[in-house]
Amino acid sequence: MADEDLPPVAAPWPELLPWQRAAASDALRARATWPHALLIAGPRGMGKRTLALNFARGLLCESPRDDGLGCGACASCGFVAAGQHPDFQLLELFETEDEETKAVTEIRIERIRGLTYWANLTSHRGRAKVAVIAPAEAMNVAAANALLKTLEEPPPGTYLILVAHQPGRVPATLRSRCRRFPAPQPEPADALQWLAGQGIASPAAILAQAGGAPLLARALADPAWQQERGVFLSALAKPRALSPVALAARVEAGPREERKERLALVLDWIGAWTADLARVAAGGTPSRNPDFGDALAALAASVAPVPLFRYHRSLLRQRALVAHPLQPRLVAEAMLIAYRDLFR
Ligand SMILES: [Zn+2]
Repeated sequence: MADEDLPPVAAPWPELLPWQRAAASDALRARATWPHALLIAGPRGMGKRTLALNFARGLLCESPRDDGLGCGACASCGFVAAGQHPDFQLLELFETEDEETKAVTEIRIERIRGLTYWANLTSHRGRAKVAVIAPAEAMNVAAANALLKTLEEPPPGTYLILVAHQPGRVPATLRSRCRRFPAPQPEPADALQWLAGQGIASPAAILAQAGGAPLLARALADPAWQQERGVFLSALAKPRALSPVALAARVEAGPREERKERLALVLDWIGAWTADLARVAAGGTPSRNPDFGDALAALAASVAPVPLFRYHRSLLRQRALVAHPLQPRLVAEAMLIAYRDLFR
C-alpha cells in the first residue's frame, strides 16, 4: 500500500519527498558523525522507506552533492538504484527465490545471519557499507537476537538503518543501540500540494481518509480501493443490515499475499469510522470520513459512548497484532460482529 510495502525491485529510484529534504540534508552533511545504527521512526505512509533508501545512497555515493545526497550519476548510485550494489543490503517483507519475489510476513533469522556475514566482508568499493531493514518490527525474536551482536560491534564503516512504524514493537535491546531519527512529517498544506502534483483529483478528502499520511493517501486514491472503502463504509452506516460473514470475506478476495494488507486497511477503515462516530456523538465533525457526514450523524444518536470507546480500543489492539494474523477473514468477522452488536 504505502511506499514502505513496495517490492525493492521496483525501479525507478524513489525521490526524496519535499518534506524530507531539509532534515535529510542536515543529517547527511553531518556524515562524519553518522551513527552505526539509525532508527527511523514514525507513522506509516510518511515515506520512511524512501528516506532510508536516500540515506543509503547518500552514504555510498562516490561524489555526494553539496546537500549531502547521492549524485544519482556515479557507479555507486547506479548500482544502488538497480538493487545490485555489493555494499548495500535491503531487508524487507519480500524474499526473492529463483528470481521470483514474494511477500512474507516476517524477517527470518536466516536473512539476519546473511546480513551479519555480509557486514563482516570487506567493502567491495572501498567505501561505506549500508544495510536497511524495513520494517524493523518485522524481525521475529530470533532474528532480532541475531542482529544484536552486529549492532553492538559493527565492523568499521558499516551502517545499519532500521525503519519502524511502531518502534515500541522493536525489542528494547535493539532500540537502545540505535540513534532515533523521527521521520519528518509534512504540514497539511505541503502534503496537499504534493498529492495534487501526483495527479490526485480531490487531495483534501483523500488525505483526511489517510489520517494525514500522504503516501498512504496516494495509495488509497486508487479507484479500486476507493470503491472498496465505499462498500465497507456503506455497510457500517447500516449496522442492522450488515452481514459480517459476507463483508469479512472481501478481505480474502485478492491474492493471498495481500490479505494482511487488506485486513490492516479494513481495521483502519472501521477504526477511523468509529473514531468519527465518537466525534459526531460528542457534537463534533468527522475528521477521517467527511464524505459520510450524514450517515455518521444519523448513527451517532443510537450508540452508547462507553461500549463504543471499548470497541475502538479493541480495534487498536487488533491493529497492532495485524503483522501475524492467523486468519484475516475471522479477525475481520469478529470485529464486524462486535460492531453490529453496538447497535443492538
Ligand atoms: Zn553518486
